Amino acid sequence: MPPKKKNQLPPVAELNILEAEAEAAHLRREIKRHDILYHQKDAPEISDAAYDSLRKRLESIESAFPALAAKDSPTHKVGAKPAREFAKVRHAVPMLSLSNAFSEEDVTDFVDRVRKFLRLSDNEKLEILAEPKIDGLSCALRYENGILRQAATRGDGEEGEDVTENVKKIPSRYIPRHLSLSMRGIPDTLEVRGEIYMTRRDFDHLNRMQLEKGEKTFANPRNAAAGSLRQLDPSITAQRPLRFYGYALGEHSEPIANTQEEIRQRLQSWGFLVPEHPTGRRAGVAMDAQELLEMYKLFYEERPKLDYDIDGVVYKVNDLEYQRRLGFISRSPRWAIAHKFPAEQAETILRKITVQVGRTGTLTPVAELEPINVGGVIVSRATLHNEDELQRKDIREGDYVIIQRAGDVIPQVVKSLPEKRARGSKPFVFPDRCPECGSLAVREEGEVARRCTGGLICPAQAVERLKHFSSRAAFDIEGLGDKIIQSFWDEKMLQTPADIFRLEKYAQALKEREGWGELSVRNLLAAIEQRRTISLDRFIYALGIRQVGQATAKKLAQHYGSIGHFLDQMKECRNRDGQAFQTLLEIDDVGPSVAEDLVDFFSEARNREAVKDLRGELTIEDYISVQARASAVTGKTVVFTGKLVTMSREEAKAQAESLGANVAGSVSKNTDYVIAGEDAGSKLKKAVDLGVKVLSEKEWQELAKG
Ligand code: AMP
Ligand code: ZN
Repeated sequence: MPPKKKNQLPPVAELNILEAEAEAAHLRREIKRHDILYHQKDAPEISDAAYDSLRKRLESIESAFPALAAKDSPTHKVGAKPAREFAKVRHAVPMLSLSNAFSEEDVTDFVDRVRKFLRLSDNEKLEILAEPKIDGLSCALRYENGILRQAATRGDGEEGEDVTENVKKIPSRYIPRHLSLSMRGIPDTLEVRGEIYMTRRDFDHLNRMQLEKGEKTFANPRNAAAGSLRQLDPSITAQRPLRFYGYALGEHSEPIANTQEEIRQRLQSWGFLVPEHPTGRRAGVAMDAQELLEMYKLFYEERPKLDYDIDGVVYKVNDLEYQRRLGFISRSPRWAIAHKFPAEQAETILRKITVQVGRTGTLTPVAELEPINVGGVIVSRATLHNEDELQRKDIREGDYVIIQRAGDVIPQVVKSLPEKRARGSKPFVFPDRCPECGSLAVREEGEVARRCTGGLICPAQAVERLKHFSSRAAFDIEGLGDKIIQSFWDEKMLQTPADIFRLEKYAQALKEREGWGELSVRNLLAAIEQRRTISLDRFIYALGIRQVGQATAKKLAQHYGSIGHFLDQMKECRNRDGQAFQTLLEIDDVGPSVAEDLVDFFSEARNREAVKDLRGELTIEDYISVQARASAVTGKTVVFTGKLVTMSREEAKAQAESLGANVAGSVSKNTDYVIAGEDAGSKLKKAVDLGVKVLSEKEWQELAKG
């Protein structure tokens, strides 16, 4: 049986010309809007599949009613994309993101966690700085001998885009080109990090001018700032009113401060603006969670008066030595947290519920909304999470609903307003077949998600997997974006990830595609060629195994070291009672359910085939930790036991990992060192039995220092 079409619009043949005209006009507006969201604002609101269906619908209307085919219709611009090719910049110090706090409890937990990690006693003080979280885009400015040499965006945190020429167009009262050398204490190499943003006034003015010129307007100041900076033609950036707030240092060749507060002062003295604090306090330094919460309240009250958007308050441990000890957890520092302002809500009509199929086959219900402005952003879709949520909240097509947007998370439907419901409305019936391939969609016991069982025959899954494979944090193939993948898939040039590395055989055909040419094909193939060598962690992440995100992929890569060893061990893991499976469970981040997903993935012959195929095309590099300094303990497996004196267990573990050691939970013959604190028990005994080397805490510290 062919899959049921999810689109409930009337067939084009049934439209009269007036209806067709109205719909075509609406579609053109929508398509243009989504083009802008995608290409210029980096903020797509709809999936590529949904975008394609808009275009297909418009095409079929235009071909059924040739009189309506407008010259400037977006259907004439197939494949013509503005190039998006900034050079890449590798960050010497990764640019991280921040973990979030949403409640007072999250804030007290944060402070408690930090105190515990550092093992502070009740009378040891812990200063925490509070700064507004500015809603712009982060940027790293590199000064060499006081001269601005390079500016880069955050990108994926490890690699950003070179926007030097654009940044040089920002007035020097915000971004100095020279840090006067007469000012003392400027390190030879100095990277200033902060936020590029636009004030609300400048934003309104820019939008008015854009309107007058008949050009596109921006949804909010942040999008305007991002869109203005990331212009391949810097002369456009020059016309945009951008500003900069400095709030951190990246790489610097000499230490210049002991506290975060001193960094602020330094930045100010060099001519940078720094995020302001609500009046009356000693530059926003708090001594405990209570004081932080008071400051948060102040910021919240001040917010409407500020001339720029802030979406929360960032708390940072003030002492830089503490910051160093606290270190990082995967993508964010342990020493900071962003306390977000409460979500913004709005009421609108839910037009339709569609069901999307993800990379792992999960069916997700999505609300298609009457577009509405929620806190400055136009929202036309929102997630409904899953079948149970949908039923529990009894959300129906045609309902009035409350939409909520918090920070940059996907908008959500909070609830429907049944009192406004039309009579005769019916509960939504969740499909038990995949809307993309028609295969049975089943829910396994204990799972919230219904999944398509179509596997590789399901186009949605295959395409989503390819998109994931090529995405930024995975293979990051420049020019192989979602839409291109979809069209290559439609044309059968791509079926599995390894096919990407065989695209060359279509070079001729590609050059003849509309909107393509010699150069774009050459660029694409070069970008692919560049990724033929890939790090192990990216490779594992790119496979798109359920629950294996970037952090877990890193941990796996770190633990197994090489692709060969990893695959061997995954095979061994099929025996759930064996040592290999036990070891897998001991890896940080890998719980029983992640372990099961890994084993399931590699038990599937088609997946093993796909990996084998890829290995034939690629060089997969052994894992080298970015943060790890080579040390005497790099690559060693260590186990901590007993009570440590100089640091908390957590800090000891974090330190060992930052030195490139693997920290295991139990002792085996593969253990290199057991570090025994006070009152060590059974693990110590086992180490002695197995003849594993036992170190005291002091001996360990010396080894680590070495
Ligand atoms: P997120 O992207 O939500 O993980 O939050 C991290 C981002 O917040 C950083 O990359 C910065 O771009 C931004 N940010 C804005 N204001 C600040 C601030 N005062 N301190 C640190 N980060 C900030
Ligand atoms: Zn399917």
